[in-house]
Amino acid sequence: MRKTCLNLLNEDVVNQISPHFQQLYQEVFADYFSRDPARWPVFAEPGFASMIEFRTLQLSQDQRLSAYPNGPELQQELLENSTMPTGRKKPNGKSDDMLAFAAALSKNWENPSSVENVVTMPCDPAIYGSMMGTLANPNLVYSEYSGMADQLEKNVVRQIASLVDYDVTQATGLFTQGGTFCNLYGYLLGLRKSLPNAKFTGMGMIEDYRILNSQGGHYSNMTNLSLLGVDIRNKTLRIKVTDSHDIDLDDMEQQLRACFTVNCRVPTIMLTMGTTDTFAVDQVKLVYDLRNRLCEEYEVSVKPHIHVDAAVGWSMIFFNSYDFANNPLEINQATLIGIERTMERVKELKYADSFTVDFQKWGYVPYTSSLIMIKNKDDMKALENDPENFSYFEHDLQGQTHLQSTIECSRGAAGLFGAYSALKYMGLEGYQIILSHCLQNANYFRSELLKLGCVRLITPENQGPSVGFRLYNPALVTDVDAEFEIEQQCMTNPDYAERLLRNNSWHREIFNQCGKVGLYTNWVEFISRSAYNEYDKYTYIPGEKAVFMNPATGRKQIDTFIANIRRVIGC
Ligand SMILES: *Cc1c(COP(=O)(O)O)cnc(C)c1O
Repeated sequence: MRKTCLNLLNEDVVNQISPHFQQLYQEVFADYFSRDPARWPVFAEPGFASMIEFRTLQLSQDQRLSAYPNGPELQQELLENSTMPTGRKKPNGKSDDMLAFAAALSKNWENPSSVENVVTMPCDPAIYGSMMGTLANPNLVYSEYSGMADQLEKNVVRQIASLVDYDVTQATGLFTQGGTFCNLYGYLLGLRKSLPNAKFTGMGMIEDYRILNSQGGHYSNMTNLSLLGVDIRNKTLRIKVTDSHDIDLDDMEQQLRACFTVNCRVPTIMLTMGTTDTFAVDQVKLVYDLRNRLCEEYEVSVKPHIHVDAAVGWSMIFFNSYDFANNPLEINQATLIGIERTMERVKELKYADSFTVDFQKWGYVPYTSSLIMIKNKDDMKALENDPENFSYFEHDLQGQTHLQSTIECSRGAAGLFGAYSALKYMGLEGYQIILSHCLQNANYFRSELLKLGCVRLITPENQGPSVGFRLYNPALVTDVDAEFEIEQQCMTNPDYAERLLRNNSWHREIFNQCGKVGLYTNWVEFISRSAYNEYDKYTYIPGEKAVFMNPATGRKQIDTFIANIRRVIGC
């Protein structure tokens, strides 16, 4: 499979854009990403219009301040002033200078060169929807404070449940503060189910347990476990990852057996669908089968809760029903095969007990709009706190919401309204078109990088929006794959460790010399890992990364970036 993908990447013909696709993409971009007041009158508001106008200039980061009227003076004032105004400011139909300045000079995600990390510009319908939610200001904590918004939340939960093939009548979910919180719910669900006493006694006085997660998981895993009072060093088993960065199932089985053999509980198994930097997708079905099999074998009554961190990868569920045989959107061949391959694993999301959905990432909804989805609503009972604690809510209404089970009290609804509106206007087709555009960009970028000859792509078999790569000095390295193999052995051979450092600093130097031209790529410390040594130790391998989630990015930016590398390296 890996070979097929790579061969495809080298062929120009499979990376072309079909005219039909191009037409669809332009329609979708114009309708949902252009901030066009003719389509979305809200953007005609004078403050919004001037901000949009400035950002449309697409200035680079260092040009923006001086290009903004009185920019340096406004910045000075912002830096120096520490006092609240004493008097009042009458509304005059114009936006406040400072307000407009700070908004205009916030990071410009609409700039087609913006490919830093898993962050995007939101789509027009989601902005409009969030504004509706902001205006209405429901509080999702409790049905009396939310009114109809409560039904809207349930509606979005049902839409996502049916997309992944959860039983819609059994599933539940709630909007919360970011993907980190969704994962927090995932861990908590497991802890509360397996170790119910911990709710009252904390993590000290309970049965022995281990949490299982992946070495490739997001850092929020660690912040969450620490927050929950989990002993990270002694009670967390970080499972190895394969060369493709998905979770190693052999290691998982060994560790799970080791726990069950000594009657140690495993509250939560945390998987990832789309790692942030390398888009590795764990095999949920195999983990699900393994868990069930071992629970039967060892007579474990409360099964480990499987939570899937799909903060980045969830968006691929929009392809669940795509007709790959006829390919009506005319997605190019390289990308079509890539998506089909990813879908084999994304379809397994239904085996998760719960999963993280970040609308604010690849769903094009403004911050924060994250949704924790739960397969079986009865699981929420394990989170319920003593009703005595909720003295200022009407007793009769309490049971109708998640009031007693949520981590937070007030929950804003802007993210929910934004998400509803994005799903409604873009529909499956709109999302499929924009996601395919991003993935076609990613594959085109991969194939152009390969043409440089001195590039090793990191996990190109993971066909997501993230493209990680390492550049090698063509004067010293003729075979990048062989060199990468050598670097992999750095934990066992000191000479190779030195080679790794030499190559790292050369690439880092080129990265700095290139500046930000065409694409605003990032340097990441952990784009790949070395081979494990005999003690299962490994080291991080750094590299450069671009994430193609930006609907505005096109081949022009990619070509400019590649030409600039050629100029700097002289190849
Ligand atoms: C971004 C991300 C998170 C954290 O989500 P936030 O919304 O930033 O809190 C968790 N897991 C993965 C894989 C992510 O990419």
